Amino acid sequence: MADVTLRHVYKVYDGSVRAVNDFDLEIKDKEFVVFVGPSGCGKSTTLRMIAGLEEITAGQLYIDGELMNEVEPKNRDIAMVFQSYALYPHMTVYDNMAFGLKLRHTPKDEIDRRVKKAAEILEISELLSRKPKALSGGQRQRVALGRTIVRDPKVFLLDEPLSNLDAKLRVSMRSEITKLHERLQTTFIYVTHDQTEAMTMGNRIVVMKDGYIQQADTPITLFENPSNLFVATFLGSPQMNIIEAELFMEGKTLKAKLNGSTDVVTFPDIKAKQLANKKYIGQKVLLGIRPEHVIPGKGDIEVDVDVVEHLGDETILYTKMKNRKEQFILKLPFNSKLHANEKTNVEFNMEFVYMFDKDTQKAIMGIPYEDEIPVRIEGDKLTIGKQVKTLDPDFKSHLLDNAFNNDVRLGIKPDYISRESIPDSLEIEAKLEFIEQKTDYQAVFFSIEGVDGYFAMKVRNDEKVTLDQITHLYLPYQRIFIYDKDNNKVKSREVVHPNVTTAEVKNINGMMKVKVAGTTLSYPSEENVPDGVYNLTFKQDKLVPIFTKKMVKKGFENPVFDNPNNKIFVSAYDEDILGSKLLTYVEVAGLEYYASFIVDNKFSVYKMPKFELYVPRDGFELTPKGE
Ligand code: ADP
Repeated sequence: MADVTLRHVYKVYDGSVRAVNDFDLEIKDKEFVVFVGPSGCGKSTTLRMIAGLEEITAGQLYIDGELMNEVEPKNRDIAMVFQSYALYPHMTVYDNMAFGLKLRHTPKDEIDRRVKKAAEILEISELLSRKPKALSGGQRQRVALGRTIVRDPKVFLLDEPLSNLDAKLRVSMRSEITKLHERLQTTFIYVTHDQTEAMTMGNRIVVMKDGYIQQADTPITLFENPSNLFVATFLGSPQMNIIEAELFMEGKTLKAKLNGSTDVVTFPDIKAKQLANKKYIGQKVLLGIRPEHVIPGKGDIEVDVDVVEHLGDETILYTKMKNRKEQFILKLPFNSKLHANEKTNVEFNMEFVYMFDKDTQKAIMGIPYEDEIPVRIEGDKLTIGKQVKTLDPDFKSHLLDNAFNNDVRLGIKPDYISRESIPDSLEIEAKLEFIEQKTDYQAVFFSIEGVDGYFAMKVRNDEKVTLDQITHLYLPYQRIFIYDKDNNKVKSREVVHPNVTTAEVKNINGMMKVKVAGTTLSYPSEENVPDGVYNLTFKQDKLVPIFTKKMVKKGFENPVFDNPNNKIFVSAYDEDILGSKLLTYVEVAGLEYYASFIVDNKFSVYKMPKFELYVPRDGFELTPKGE
């Protein structure tokens, strides 16, 4: 029994392979969480970091509130089951299961009790005297599970445990493992690349891609409300049809013209409302419709059937729409009468049409992954529509220069918005405009006076919501992100200290020598910078990392520097991904706190303990030091 919390966990291999980025997740006691995603997305790495088999590059791992980063795997009270079950061939099932306990000097009668109990749970009591070679694949996998159950761990980690089994066995073992979880009442974390396995087993699924969490939610919500194109197309088989379409209004009705054809689809009001004020009207978007939500024999979209696949319980039709090259897939009952080379008309079930931004690929209807609200930050004031708020000083100390006096957006995951007052939160007033009933929750949409569009939160089905009501909403500061217009984060994880230190300037032979941070930088002299002692402020976004020889060998290229000697030496401390940019926290000689520099997100400071930053003249400001 245990909660597992990952806070901003990163894994960087070889100084530049970012296997896992900013993995932030709370796994509750007794939850069955599945990590799913294509090969190489970082699932196993994350699991192995939880197990302690892989070092955590940055971030924190807590089990039951205790920091685990430096705790030996054997002391984490975790059991891991791998895809190869590696049983000892010369030992009986009983001895295989007892082996680990013997090593730990567990008393014999205690071992016997535990092995028999585990065998009972797994229904392998009658196999205890057999050797592994006399077992089927499924039975061997059960013994492998038994070996971990006897240890009575707090957390079970399972890394593709079924991938060596044949298709039929996999299906039955799936439900075995689900039942096992119910019986053991323990936290399970399960890794698979198989979406069906994920959907059928997890209480909650974490969809990953390229080392980032894409969405973490219940199977139904992921299916019903995918937050981006990747999640939408990754889950569901055959995958969701995606069609480019142009949105337009006809009176008060939202419609979309499918690209490459004259076909038009009409949205129901509840969907249209979610877009009503948004910038997408008149724009091209990506429409998504799952094969099972296309209804043949109705409507006026004509399709040609290319191929018909009878799968027993259902029929898959591969078709093409008029004037469109892309395949369009329908999923019909097994007794569908449609044949290849036939034409049919189809209609979309518009309750289940999804919409995605063409560039960001984020969902633009339903509950978004993150609510985004345009705001303005000036000094310690944050303006949202007509509301002006005084910012919490701690929150402000995490903002980068770019956050101030520019158009920025506040982002917050809908799950973190509360209707009840919570400490350290930003309180805003919003009007409850409409509700869309989902299977697991109510999607509640709010408007804020003076702000275009709506933003959404989830409310449990048994909670009361009242339309048109002005509601106080509480956004925990810790969970708020701020983004600039290029989608880069401008709020950092760590406090941003000013990059200020003392510098001594001496002009010699037309050159201005600036002694700072344990080095001397050299630039042409400037009229208004006489010899003297100055306050020097390094600019956050103007210094350029110089790649080491090792990195250059790996293909990282250094630009040509005017004066390659103008560089400061820094020691890496931490980093924070801001989108396409990287914020590096580094130690610089002479600075009281760490400094922070924004560089391109091409390398990682983790495992580059020391490096150099090139300092162009516009990379710092000098102000005379007061007497
Ligand atoms: P998954 O389990 O989702 O298939 P992994 O966690 O195994 O993905 O790998 C994530 C990324 O990290 C991949 O790009 C992989 O090549 C890389 N990677 C994994 N292990 C190592 C390693 N020991 N050294 C360097 N790169 C690695």
